[in-house]
Amino acid sequence: MLTIRDLTKTYANGVRALDGISLDIPRGMFGLLGPNGAGKSSLMRTLATLQEADSGSVSLDGADGRAIDVLRDKDAVRRQLGYLPQDFGVYPKVSAADLLEHFAVLKGLSDRKRRREVVDGLLNQVNLWNARKQKLGTFSGGMRQRFGIAQALLGDPRLVIVDEPTAGLDPEERNRFLNLLAEIGENVAVILSTHIVEDVTDLCPTMAIVSKGKVLLTGKPGDAIDALNQQVWRKQVSKDELDSYETRFTVLSTRLVGGQPVIHVFSKDSPEPEFELVEPDLEDVYFQRLRMHARVA
Ligand code: ADP
Repeated sequence: MLTIRDLTKTYANGVRALDGISLDIPRGMFGLLGPNGAGKSSLMRTLATLQEADSGSVSLDGADGRAIDVLRDKDAVRRQLGYLPQDFGVYPKVSAADLLEHFAVLKGLSDRKRRREVVDGLLNQVNLWNARKQKLGTFSGGMRQRFGIAQALLGDPRLVIVDEPTAGLDPEERNRFLNLLAEIGENVAVILSTHIVEDVTDLCPTMAIVSKGKVLLTGKPGDAIDALNQQVWRKQVSKDELDSYETRFTVLSTRLVGGQPVIHVFSKDSPEPEFELVEPDLEDVYFQRLRMHARVA
Protein backbone atom coordinates (compact mmCIF):
# COMPACT_ATOMS: atom_id res chain seq x y z
CA MET A 1 0.00 0.00 0.00
CA LEU A 2 2.69 2.49 1.09
CA THR A 3 6.35 1.71 0.46
CA ILE A 4 9.01 3.88 2.09
CA ARG A 5 12.66 3.41 1.21
CA ASP A 6 15.80 4.98 2.70
CA LEU A 7 14.12 8.23 3.63
CA THR A 8 16.47 10.83 5.11
CA LYS A 9 16.04 14.34 6.40
CA THR A 10 18.52 16.61 8.14
CA TYR A 11 17.20 19.97 9.37
CA ALA A 12 19.14 23.20 8.93
CA ASN A 13 20.24 22.98 12.58
CA GLY A 14 22.01 19.68 11.83
CA VAL A 15 19.45 17.36 13.47
CA ARG A 16 19.11 14.17 11.44
CA ALA A 17 15.41 13.53 12.04
CA LEU A 18 15.08 10.72 9.46
CA ASP A 19 18.11 8.48 9.12
CA GLY A 20 17.32 5.96 6.40
CA ILE A 21 13.72 5.00 7.16
CA SER A 22 12.34 2.01 5.21
CA LEU A 23 8.86 0.68 5.92
CA ASP A 24 6.09 -1.29 4.22
CA ILE A 25 2.71 -0.10 5.42
CA PRO A 26 -0.28 -2.27 4.52
CA ARG A 27 -3.98 -1.49 4.67
CA GLY A 28 -5.35 -1.35 8.21
CA MET A 29 -3.99 0.28 11.32
CA PHE A 30 -0.24 0.74 11.41
CA GLY A 31 1.31 1.90 14.68
CA LEU A 32 4.37 4.12 14.52
CA LEU A 33 5.74 4.03 18.03
CA GLY A 34 8.66 6.06 19.33
CA PRO A 35 9.73 8.44 22.08
CA ASN A 36 9.48 12.19 21.70
CA GLY A 37 12.05 13.38 19.20
CA ALA A 38 12.20 10.02 17.38
CA GLY A 39 11.25 11.58 14.06
CA LYS A 40 7.60 10.53 13.90
CA SER A 41 6.19 13.96 13.07
CA SER A 42 8.94 14.57 10.53
CA LEU A 43 7.98 11.32 8.82
CA MET A 44 4.24 12.10 8.99
CA ARG A 45 4.74 15.58 7.55
CA THR A 46 6.88 14.18 4.75
CA LEU A 47 4.23 11.58 3.88
CA ALA A 48 1.57 14.30 4.04
CA THR A 49 3.63 16.30 1.46
CA LEU A 50 4.12 19.18 3.90
CA GLN A 51 7.89 19.01 3.92
CA GLU A 52 10.67 17.76 1.68
CA ALA A 53 12.92 14.78 2.34
CA ASP A 54 16.62 14.97 1.42
CA SER A 55 16.65 11.55 -0.22
CA GLY A 56 14.77 8.29 -0.48
CA SER A 57 11.50 7.27 -2.07
CA VAL A 58 7.87 6.78 -1.08
CA SER A 59 5.29 5.08 -3.23
CA LEU A 60 1.53 4.85 -2.60
CA ASP A 61 -0.77 2.46 -4.43
CA GLY A 62 -3.37 4.66 -6.10
CA ALA A 63 -7.06 3.90 -6.43
CA ASP A 64 -6.55 2.96 -10.10
CA GLY A 65 -3.79 0.50 -9.15
CA ARG A 66 -1.02 2.79 -10.36
CA ALA A 67 1.73 3.79 -7.97
CA ILE A 68 1.98 7.43 -6.91
CA ASP A 69 5.42 8.91 -6.28
CA VAL A 70 4.64 10.60 -2.96
CA LEU A 71 7.72 12.82 -2.90
CA ARG A 72 7.10 14.23 -6.38
CA ASP A 73 3.45 13.94 -7.33
CA LYS A 74 2.12 15.89 -4.38
CA ASP A 75 -1.25 16.84 -5.83
CA ALA A 76 -2.08 13.20 -6.50
CA VAL A 77 -1.13 12.29 -2.93
CA ARG A 78 -3.20 15.08 -1.46
CA ARG A 79 -6.29 13.79 -3.26
CA GLN A 80 -5.85 10.41 -1.54
CA LEU A 81 -4.74 11.64 1.85
CA GLY A 82 -6.43 12.49 5.14
CA TYR A 83 -4.24 14.10 7.77
CA LEU A 84 -4.82 14.90 11.42
CA PRO A 85 -1.78 16.88 12.53
CA GLN A 86 -0.48 16.92 16.09
CA ASP A 87 -1.43 20.55 16.58
CA PHE A 88 -4.80 20.53 14.85
CA GLY A 89 -6.37 23.93 15.51
CA VAL A 90 -10.03 24.82 15.05
CA TYR A 91 -11.88 28.11 14.85
CA PRO A 92 -13.46 28.32 18.31
CA LYS A 93 -16.44 30.45 17.32
CA VAL A 94 -17.60 28.33 14.39
CA SER A 95 -19.91 25.35 14.70
CA ALA A 96 -18.72 21.84 13.85
CA ALA A 97 -21.15 21.55 10.94
CA ASP A 98 -20.16 24.91 9.45
CA LEU A 99 -16.42 24.29 9.65
CA LEU A 100 -16.71 20.79 8.21
CA GLU A 101 -18.81 22.21 5.40
CA HIS A 102 -16.11 24.82 4.80
CA PHE A 103 -13.40 22.14 4.67
CA ALA A 104 -15.60 20.17 2.25
CA VAL A 105 -15.74 23.15 -0.10
CA LEU A 106 -11.95 23.40 0.07
CA LYS A 107 -11.72 19.69 -0.77
CA GLY A 108 -13.62 20.41 -3.96
CA LEU A 109 -17.05 19.09 -3.03
CA SER A 110 -18.85 21.72 -5.07
CA ASP A 111 -22.25 20.10 -5.39
CA ARG A 112 -24.28 21.48 -2.50
CA LYS A 113 -26.58 18.49 -2.01
CA ARG A 114 -23.79 15.95 -2.23
CA ARG A 115 -21.69 18.04 0.14
CA ARG A 116 -24.53 18.08 2.66
CA GLU A 117 -24.78 14.31 2.53
CA VAL A 118 -21.07 13.86 3.03
CA VAL A 119 -20.86 16.33 5.92
CA ASP A 120 -23.90 14.86 7.67
CA GLY A 121 -22.59 11.34 7.15
CA LEU A 122 -19.22 12.19 8.66
CA LEU A 123 -20.73 14.00 11.64
CA ASN A 124 -22.71 10.85 12.33
CA GLN A 125 -19.75 8.57 11.81
CA VAL A 126 -17.62 10.39 14.39
CA ASN A 127 -20.57 10.65 16.75
CA LEU A 128 -20.83 14.43 16.72
CA TRP A 129 -24.26 14.71 15.14
CA ASN A 130 -25.88 15.92 18.32
CA ALA A 131 -23.11 18.48 18.85
CA ARG A 132 -22.98 19.67 15.25
CA LYS A 133 -24.40 23.12 16.01
CA GLN A 134 -22.14 23.63 18.99
CA LYS A 135 -19.20 26.02 18.68
CA LEU A 136 -15.89 24.19 18.42
CA GLY A 137 -14.48 26.23 21.28
CA THR A 138 -16.86 24.40 23.63
CA PHE A 139 -15.68 20.94 22.54
CA SER A 140 -13.73 18.60 24.85
CA GLY A 141 -10.36 17.30 23.68
CA GLY A 142 -11.92 14.04 22.54
CA MET A 143 -14.66 15.79 20.59
CA ARG A 144 -12.07 18.00 18.92
CA GLN A 145 -10.04 14.97 17.86
CA ARG A 146 -13.17 13.28 16.49
CA PHE A 147 -13.91 16.43 14.54
CA GLY A 148 -10.30 16.27 13.30
CA ILE A 149 -10.94 12.75 12.02
CA ALA A 150 -14.10 13.88 10.26
CA GLN A 151 -12.18 16.55 8.34
CA ALA A 152 -9.42 14.03 7.57
CA LEU A 153 -11.97 11.66 6.05
CA LEU A 154 -13.38 14.23 3.61
CA GLY A 155 -12.80 13.10 0.05
CA ASP A 156 -12.57 9.37 0.85
CA PRO A 157 -8.82 9.14 1.44
CA ARG A 158 -6.98 5.85 0.93
CA LEU A 159 -4.31 6.88 3.39
CA VAL A 160 -5.08 8.48 6.74
CA ILE A 161 -2.31 9.84 8.95
CA VAL A 162 -2.92 10.73 12.58
CA ASP A 163 -0.11 12.23 14.62
CA GLU A 164 -0.17 11.67 18.41
CA PRO A 165 -3.98 11.84 18.54
CA THR A 166 -4.58 10.47 22.03
CA ALA A 167 -2.27 12.77 23.97
CA GLY A 168 -4.34 14.62 26.55
CA LEU A 169 -7.49 12.52 26.18
CA ASP A 170 -9.06 10.92 29.25
CA PRO A 171 -9.43 7.11 29.16
CA GLU A 172 -13.04 7.14 27.99
CA GLU A 173 -12.41 9.67 25.23
CA ARG A 174 -9.30 7.77 24.23
CA ASN A 175 -11.22 4.49 23.90
CA ARG A 176 -13.89 6.12 21.87
CA PHE A 177 -11.36 7.73 19.59
CA LEU A 178 -9.38 4.50 19.10
CA ASN A 179 -12.55 2.56 18.31
CA LEU A 180 -13.35 5.12 15.65
CA LEU A 181 -9.86 4.73 14.16
CA ALA A 182 -10.21 0.95 14.16
CA GLU A 183 -13.43 1.21 12.16
CA ILE A 184 -11.78 3.47 9.63
CA GLY A 185 -8.80 1.11 9.42
CA GLU A 186 -11.03 -1.60 8.00
CA ASN A 187 -11.08 0.17 4.66
CA VAL A 188 -7.94 2.26 4.32
CA ALA A 189 -4.36 2.47 5.56
CA VAL A 190 -4.20 4.41 8.81
CA ILE A 191 -0.84 5.41 10.23
CA LEU A 192 -1.10 6.14 13.93
CA SER A 193 1.92 7.90 15.32
CA THR A 194 2.17 7.73 19.09
CA HIS A 195 4.52 7.49 22.04
CA ILE A 196 1.85 5.56 23.98
CA VAL A 197 2.47 1.81 23.80
CA GLU A 198 -1.14 0.89 24.67
CA ASP A 199 -2.43 2.75 21.62
CA VAL A 200 -0.53 0.27 19.46
CA THR A 201 -1.22 -2.80 21.61
CA ASP A 202 -4.94 -2.18 21.53
CA LEU A 203 -5.28 -1.37 17.89
CA CYS A 204 -2.52 -2.13 15.41
CA PRO A 205 -1.95 -5.45 13.62
CA THR A 206 1.35 -4.11 12.26
CA MET A 207 3.75 -1.61 13.71
CA ALA A 208 7.19 -0.10 13.78
CA ILE A 209 9.34 1.21 16.60
CA VAL A 210 11.43 4.24 15.67
CA SER A 211 14.08 6.14 17.57
CA LYS A 212 16.58 8.79 16.52
CA GLY A 213 15.35 8.65 12.94
CA LYS A 214 15.83 4.89 12.56
CA VAL A 215 13.47 1.91 12.43
CA LEU A 216 14.39 -0.41 15.31
CA LEU A 217 11.74 -3.02 14.59
CA THR A 218 8.81 -3.56 12.27
CA GLY A 219 6.24 -6.32 12.01
CA LYS A 220 3.39 -7.77 14.04
CA PRO A 221 3.29 -6.83 17.74
CA GLY A 222 2.53 -10.47 18.63
CA ASP A 223 5.67 -11.75 16.89
CA ALA A 224 7.85 -9.18 18.63
CA ILE A 225 6.33 -10.13 21.98
CA ASP A 226 6.84 -13.86 21.33
CA ALA A 227 10.50 -13.21 20.55
CA LEU A 228 10.96 -12.02 24.15
CA ASN A 229 9.38 -15.11 25.70
CA GLN A 230 11.28 -16.50 28.71
CA GLN A 231 13.53 -13.46 28.78
CA VAL A 232 11.62 -10.92 30.86
CA TRP A 233 11.88 -11.14 34.64
CA ARG A 234 10.13 -9.27 37.38
CA LYS A 235 11.07 -8.39 40.92
CA GLN A 236 9.84 -6.06 43.58
CA VAL A 237 12.77 -4.04 44.94
CA SER A 238 13.24 -1.17 47.34
CA LYS A 239 13.81 2.36 46.10
CA ASP A 240 17.39 2.36 47.45
CA GLU A 241 18.28 -0.72 45.41
CA LEU A 242 17.04 0.67 42.12
CA ASP A 243 20.35 2.21 41.01
CA SER A 244 22.23 -0.96 41.76
CA TYR A 245 19.80 -3.04 39.67
CA GLU A 246 20.04 -0.59 36.82
CA THR A 247 23.83 -0.87 36.69
CA ARG A 248 23.89 -4.66 36.98
CA PHE A 249 21.00 -5.60 34.72
CA THR A 250 19.10 -4.45 31.66
CA VAL A 251 16.16 -2.91 33.46
CA LEU A 252 13.37 -2.39 30.93
CA SER A 253 10.90 -0.59 33.15
CA THR A 254 10.17 0.41 36.70
CA ARG A 255 6.59 0.61 37.81
CA LEU A 256 5.26 1.46 41.22
CA VAL A 257 2.85 -1.12 42.55
CA GLY A 258 1.36 -0.06 45.85
CA GLY A 259 4.17 2.47 46.23
CA GLN A 260 6.94 -0.15 45.76
CA PRO A 261 9.06 -0.28 42.60
CA VAL A 262 8.60 -3.39 40.48
CA ILE A 263 11.24 -3.80 37.82
CA HIS A 264 11.22 -5.73 34.57
CA VAL A 265 14.65 -7.04 33.58
CA PHE A 266 15.68 -8.43 30.21
CA SER A 267 17.89 -11.49 30.58
CA LYS A 268 18.32 -14.86 28.88
CA ASP A 269 18.69 -16.56 32.28
CA SER A 270 17.35 -15.80 35.72
CA PRO A 271 19.21 -12.65 36.79
CA GLU A 272 19.17 -13.55 40.48
CA PRO A 273 17.10 -15.62 42.86
CA GLU A 274 13.72 -14.08 43.61
CA PHE A 275 13.15 -12.89 40.07
CA GLU A 276 10.11 -14.44 38.43
CA LEU A 277 9.50 -14.91 34.73
CA VAL A 278 6.71 -12.76 33.30
CA GLU A 279 4.78 -12.92 30.07
CA PRO A 280 6.29 -10.12 28.02
CA ASP A 281 4.08 -7.41 26.57
CA LEU A 282 4.58 -4.72 23.97
CA GLU A 283 5.94 -2.30 26.53
CA ASP A 284 8.75 -4.77 27.28
CA VAL A 285 9.44 -5.05 23.55
CA TYR A 286 9.50 -1.27 23.22
CA PHE A 287 11.90 -0.64 26.09
CA GLN A 288 14.09 -3.59 25.13
CA ARG A 289 14.56 -2.17 21.63
CA LEU A 290 15.20 1.34 22.88
CA ARG A 291 17.77 0.06 25.43
CA MET A 292 19.61 -2.06 22.88
CA HIS A 293 19.67 0.79 20.41
CA ALA A 294 20.94 3.27 23.01
CA ARG A 295 23.73 0.82 23.81
CA VAL A 296 25.01 0.48 20.24
CA ALA A 297 24.36 4.07 19.19
P1 ADP B 1 8.62 13.14 17.16
O1 ADP B 1 7.40 13.47 16.36
O2 ADP B 1 8.92 11.67 17.17
O3 ADP B 1 8.60 13.72 18.53
P2 ADP B 1 10.00 15.05 15.44
O4 ADP B 1 9.92 14.59 14.04
O5 ADP B 1 9.08 16.12 15.89
O6 ADP B 1 9.89 13.78 16.42
O7 ADP B 1 11.49 15.53 15.75
C1 ADP B 1 12.64 14.75 15.42
C2 ADP B 1 13.88 15.58 15.72
O8 ADP B 1 13.95 16.66 14.78
C3 ADP B 1 13.89 16.23 17.09
O9 ADP B 1 15.22 16.25 17.55
C4 ADP B 1 13.37 17.63 16.83
O10 ADP B 1 13.88 18.55 17.79
C5 ADP B 1 13.93 17.92 15.45
N1 ADP B 1 13.09 18.82 14.65
C6 ADP B 1 11.79 18.65 14.34
N2 ADP B 1 11.34 19.63 13.53
C7 ADP B 1 12.40 20.46 13.34
C8 ADP B 1 12.59 21.67 12.58
N3 ADP B 1 11.60 22.21 11.87
N4 ADP B 1 13.81 22.24 12.61
C9 ADP B 1 14.81 21.69 13.33
N5 ADP B 1 14.71 20.56 14.04
C10 ADP B 1 13.51 19.93 14.05
